Amino acid sequence: MSTLNAGRQLIKAALESGFTVAVHYEQDHEPAMTRKGTEHLTALWSEATACDEATVYFYEASRLGGGTSWRDFEKRGWAYLVHWNEGDEVISDHGSKGWVNDWAVATEYGQRKVCIDCGLDGLVFEGSNEYEPDPITGDPRCFQCDLKANPDRYGEQS
Ligand SMILES: [Zn+2]
Repeated sequence: MSTLNAGRQLIKAALESGFTVAVHYEQDHEPAMTRKGTEHLTALWSEATACDEATVYFYEASRLGGGTSWRDFEKRGWAYLVHWNEGDEVISDHGSKGWVNDWAVATEYGQRKVCIDCGLDGLVFEGSNEYEPDPITGDPRCFQCDLKANPDRYGEQS
């Protein structure tokens, strides 16, 4: 089993896709925080986990109404996060169409691992075909690529 938190993975992917992310406490009408840009991942995630449940909305950067309010942006999807769940179950509910659903299918709720060097798909957290996290970024590599990228990790065969 993976330990990756699907809620955090989703927010990270949304920011990387250039979406504006709005975090609402539980089902509050007004967002507690609205941010765009990958540098805000930590702040948004901290806000999203400030209470037991949170709704996250994703907005396209192009404005509909021409204003600066979050209401003037086109909604691209939403997810309901429940923090006493774990892993992929943190995303308790989400829009059945649109970007969030596409992301969930493509990444298996952020659990799927693809080697950053060779693109090998289907790496897992534990077991055969296990991935090795990059020592700095944590990004996954397959064993063969990690041997080349991080030879120090494997030491000398004497
Ligand atoms: Zn590889």
